[in-house]
Amino acid sequence: MSSKSLQARYEAAFMPNYGVPPTVLVSGEGCVVRDADGESYLDLIGGIAVTSLGHGHRGLTAAIAEQAGSIAHTSNLFVNEPEIELAEELLSLLGGDARVFLSNSGTEANECALKMAIKFGKQHGRTYFVAAENGFHGRSMGALSLTGKAAIREPFGPFAADVRFVPFGDAEALRAAVGPECAAVFLEPTQGEGGVVPAPEGYFKAVREICTDAGALLVLDEIQSAIGRSGAWFAHQLEDIRPDILTLAKGLGGGLPIGACVGFGSAATIFAKGDHGSTFGGNPVSAAAALCVLKTIASDGLLGHARTLGEQWAAELAAVGHPLLLGVRGRGLWIGLVLDGAHAGAVQEAAKAAGFLVNAVQPDVVRLAPPLIITAEQARSFTAALPGILDSASPQE
Ligand SMILES: *Cc1c(COP(=O)(O)O)cnc(C)c1O
Repeated sequence: MSSKSLQARYEAAFMPNYGVPPTVLVSGEGCVVRDADGESYLDLIGGIAVTSLGHGHRGLTAAIAEQAGSIAHTSNLFVNEPEIELAEELLSLLGGDARVFLSNSGTEANECALKMAIKFGKQHGRTYFVAAENGFHGRSMGALSLTGKAAIREPFGPFAADVRFVPFGDAEALRAAVGPECAAVFLEPTQGEGGVVPAPEGYFKAVREICTDAGALLVLDEIQSAIGRSGAWFAHQLEDIRPDILTLAKGLGGGLPIGACVGFGSAATIFAKGDHGSTFGGNPVSAAAALCVLKTIASDGLLGHARTLGEQWAAELAAVGHPLLLGVRGRGLWIGLVLDGAHAGAVQEAAKAAGFLVNAVQPDVVRLAPPLIITAEQARSFTAALPGILDSASPQE
């Protein structure tokens, strides 16, 4: 079936919340995907920073198939070995005294973190939460209440949690907002949906200090930034700080749905038996996939690759002189192209016509978050095409 007819069926069968996406994908290999009309594209968005090992990865495919053929689901009534191995592996990468809860998505990892923060708050007379303007933490009601974009939050309020928003990257504004009744601060190390916005140098050191001094929990949402995306296992390791609670998802499963919430120190045991749960959380197929992702990132040196190629690519992209391109920012293989005006949709479209899938994450920002296995040659092919793409996307006089 052609893309057009599949899109018509999509439109008739699905709720209109996504609109109709412009591309129908049918297969992929490495960093290249093919659409329903047989066109190939270099995938520079990787299913929103998810497809960390690329498409059709042999080892990942085998790990998933083997686990699915052995036992595909146990529920939380039973223990399975892959979930234990995954939790142990995460703890060894994180170091220190910590415990894991496994969920199925990012928003659920944040629901877990918020419930922990609410319980902590009740134990200590702390009643409100602080998060960042333009931050994104998910679409379920708890995570949405922490999401700093009014346009997606406010239509669904009021919310149960009292959340106060501060500008991202402003340590003094955070200090003023975090008083003795603040239970927890929720932040992304780099704002992903906000347009790949890294925090200023030194911000997270100050954030850690402010939370510790006030006795509030620091919850880092690393759902997008971790598992190699920023060029380290976890972006907070680049800041040399430790959160009290950490949430993960996206790249962790390499494409299979999985999320994790990690509590450190005394936050590891906030939940007592019966406080939280998930039927699918700890699913052995997703856990086997995540284990394979972690092992492959380590064995293939993908952290160093993301760091060095990401830096080099960002510098090369920044050197593309074009009136539409104001600047380039990001961390590792996670780049925001900042445009002179609301042209991101036009750039996304022009990039597709040139054979590249990119994402208009904000009206004036294009996001690149390719598989971590992208080669320097593939990255350069986009850099070389960018002036032409920007020309096509430029407003006509
Ligand atoms: C994607 C994302 C989420 C939500 O994850 P879902 O799996 O879509 O629920 C939460 N926080 C951050 C930082 C994200 O990038």
